[in-house]
Amino acid sequence: MKILLVEDSERLRTTLSHGLRAEGFTVDAAADGVVATEFLASYEYDHVVLDLGLPRMDGFGVLRALPVGGARPRVLVLSARDQVGDRVEALKAGADDYLVKPFSFDELLARLQALARRPAKMEADILECAGVQLDPLARRAEANGRALELTPREFALLELLLRHRGRVFSRTAILERIAGSNSDASDRSIEVVVFGLRRKLAGAGCTDLIENRRGAGYLVP
Ligand code: CA
Repeated sequence: MKILLVEDSERLRTTLSHGLRAEGFTVDAAADGVVATEFLASYEYDHVVLDLGLPRMDGFGVLRALPVGGARPRVLVLSARDQVGDRVEALKAGADDYLVKPFSFDELLARLQALARRPAKMEADILECAGVQLDPLARRAEANGRALELTPREFALLELLLRHRGRVFSRTAILERIAGSNSDASDRSIEVVVFGLRRKLAGAGCTDLIENRRGAGYLVP
C-alpha cells in the first residue's frame, strides 16, 4: 500500500516514514500542503496521513484538493489541535479518520489498517489469482499453498499487479508505486524486482502469472 505522509515537523515526518516503511508501506513524504497537492496530482495513493497545521496550505486545503470518486485515497488526519470543531470540519471536508497528537505509532498503524479494511473501497481482504494468494494486511503471500519469502518491493509489486488485474504497468509506473516518488531507484532496478518475484513464483510452481508486454510493461492478466 502506498502512503502520502504530510507533516511539517521534520522529526515526526522522519520517524513516521521510517516506521511505515519498516511495516512494508511505500511512503512519499511532503512537508507542506502545496507539495502534498503536487504529489496527489501526479501519483495514486491508498492512504494520506495528513497533519492539519501546515505551512503554505493547511490540511483543510489539501482535503479540498483531493480527487473525488473511485481513486480517492483514505485520509487519516493528524493534529495537535484537539478541539471538536477541527475534527468535525476535517471529517466534513472528507477525512476518513482523525488522530490527536501525541499518539503512539502502534495506534497510527492500527487506524491505517482499520481504514484499509473498510468495505467502501471494494478491496478484497485477500487478493487471489491462479493459485497465488496475497494478504495485504498480514503481509503474507503464498503460491500453491507454499509461503513466498518476498522482499518488500517484490511484495508491493505482486500486490500492485494483483490489485489491478488486466492493467499494464510500465517500469516507470511500477517504480513510482513501489519505490516511492523520491527514490533514487532506476527503471533497471524494477527489472531486478520482477526477475526476483518471477523466480520465487516459479519455485512454487507458478510460472506464468506475470506477463511482459514488450515495450509497454507488466501485468497479471
Ligand atoms: Ca504541523
